[in-house]
Parts: sequence; structure tokens; C-alpha cells
Amino acid sequence: MTARAEGNPATVTQQIRRVLVRSIDDITIERVPAPVPGDHELLVRTKVVGVCGSDTHAAAGHHPFIGLPYRPGHEAVGVVAATGRGAGAFAPGDRVIVEPNLYCGTCAQCRSGRYNICRDLKVFGCQTPGAMTDLFTIAADRVHRVPEGMSDVEAALVEPLATPVHAVAKAGDLTGRSVAVLGAGPIGLLTLLAARHAGATRIAVTDPLEGKRKRALRLGADAALPADAPALVAQANAALSGPADVIFDCVAREQSMAQATDLVAKGGHIVVVGVGAAGTTPIRLDLIQDRELRIEGTLMYTDEDYRTAMSLIASGTVDTGEIVTATYALEDAAEAFAASTDPQHVKVLVTVDGP
Ligand SMILES: [Zn+2]
Ligand SMILES: [Zn+2]
Repeated sequence: MTARAEGNPATVTQQIRRVLVRSIDDITIERVPAPVPGDHELLVRTKVVGVCGSDTHAAAGHHPFIGLPYRPGHEAVGVVAATGRGAGAFAPGDRVIVEPNLYCGTCAQCRSGRYNICRDLKVFGCQTPGAMTDLFTIAADRVHRVPEGMSDVEAALVEPLATPVHAVAKAGDLTGRSVAVLGAGPIGLLTLLAARHAGATRIAVTDPLEGKRKRALRLGADAALPADAPALVAQANAALSGPADVIFDCVAREQSMAQATDLVAKGGHIVVVGVGAAGTTPIRLDLIQDRELRIEGTLMYTDEDYRTAMSLIASGTVDTGEIVTATYALEDAAEAFAASTDPQHVKVLVTVDGP
């Protein structure tokens, strides 16, 4: 990790590039010394890293839990470059994907296995510097080995798929049940795939944009309905042969929650997958009480969901060509963020080819 400067006996530390987000209009590359892995850590050379909805949300200053400036990159695939002491069975050259939830391991939630809602949860690449860089360090227990035969692009979709897998698991057994997915962005589309895999028989997806509805149909939705149609409830009931047993709200705004309450069957389940705006969002408490509705939040995932996502990708369940719509070089991270805010794009990736 060190190189000798010409004519200077002192060692100089290698510089790496790292994306710095100050705002959506100010995304630059900073040059910083290469990190050195500590005990139980790996030094990883990034290969591919996804731009997440939470990244563009944060860059716009709208994410309730990511402050600016920040250094993004939590959907990361890389190769181990060096290992710290006690970094387990990893060796240089191993291909890994990051599981970015950094948890304490000792709070009540962690001890019950729900470390995704650790009392002191931090997310790698959200509250700590991430992987949109040449090299990063991470605890060895926060990465998974990429299965043999899985491409880097496929591996980059494991993390984004793990969130829908966890959300779908929240809804219990979906076998034979009807589902509405509100929003056909990356999380909505991956929720569609995860719900289908979990046994849902009828799935309707809603979105205001026709291009996104068509993509949902290509990915196997039974119906794709305009989210802003006045007759949305009637259309959804027709498509699903009645109200939906489960709603996945991947939009999480006042309008989508109102629709969720109208679209769900009495006694049904609304899972809030999208990140809501900071502050209060009005909901129909009278209907929630009267119809015995259950509203449940869902955050990230745990190891089991991550492994399920990995096996879904490995089995070819996800058509990566429909999900990955653009790829940019690290130097063009600002363009990658701009593309990611364009609703015609689904998942935008950044590739890193070394400094
Ligand atoms: Zn993400
Ligand atoms: Zn904890």
C-alpha cells in the first residue's frame, strides 16, 4: 500500500479516488490516502457499485437519516486486496459483496437476531464512507463471498434485492395471495419479483409512468395500473379479483398510503418499504381501526434475507437486463447520480477500474 516517491526516501501513501456528495449539483471526486485494513478488516478494491434511491434522495437533501456531505456506495462488489489480522477465511483475490448494515451486536434487537434495526445502526456508505471509491476497508463479517459463476453486475443486485426479500418475508406466507406493489422503481420491481417467488398468485403494480408500467409487465406483473387514475381502486379490484391481501408501498407518501388503505382487503397488511419524507404523513386512522389493517415498516434485511437474495439472483430469477439500465465510470459519478434521478432508469451502476 505504500510507494516510494522518486528521489525521496520517505514513503508516501498511495492516493485513491473517492466520490464526495455535497449536494445533487455538487458531486466530485476527492483524492485521499488509501485506507489500511485494521484487525478483522479487509481492504477491498471496488469493481461495481450501485446508485440507490437512498443515494439520490440523500444528495437532494431529503433523506431523513443521511446527512450531507457524505461518501456513498453501499451496493458494492469488489475484490479483496489485502486482509487485516484475524480477517477470517478471506484472501486477496476473493470476490465479495458488502452487507452494509453495521450493528452493535449487543442491544436487545441485535440479540434477538433483528440486527437490521440495531439501536445504534449505521449503514456503510450512508453514515460511514462507502464503496464508491478505488479501495475501501470493511469488517470481514460485513461481506459475503460472491458465488462462483455470478457476474459482477448480478452480484451488485444482491443488496438491492435483499430489501424486498425482507419486506416480502414480513408479509408472511404469500402462497395463493393477491398483492399490490405501489411504485415501479428499482425497489418496486424487485418487490414484484420477490413476491412472485414467495408464491403470490396475482400481482398488480402501480406507477404514474407508462414506461415503468410496461417494464413491470415484462417482469411478470399481472397488471400494471396508472397510479394517478381516478378509477385506480376499481381497476385494481378487477385485476386482482378483489382487494389486495397485501400492499407493498414502495413510494411511502401521503397519496400512496391513502391508496394502500383503499386497495387493501379488510384485515389486510400494508408493508411500508419506501423511505418516507421526514416528519408527519397523514393516514386514515379511522379506516385502519375499522378494517383491522396492519401497517408495518421494514428496514433493510438480515443475513437470511441476504442469502435468499443471493440464491434468487444465482437462479436467474432477476432479468438483469431489465433492472440495470445504465453504467458509468467512477469519474462520471455525477452523471450516474443524474441518470439515477431520471425515472426512466431503474438501476444505475458505477464501475471502478482502478486509479
Ligand atoms: Zn440501497
Ligand atoms: Zn445492536
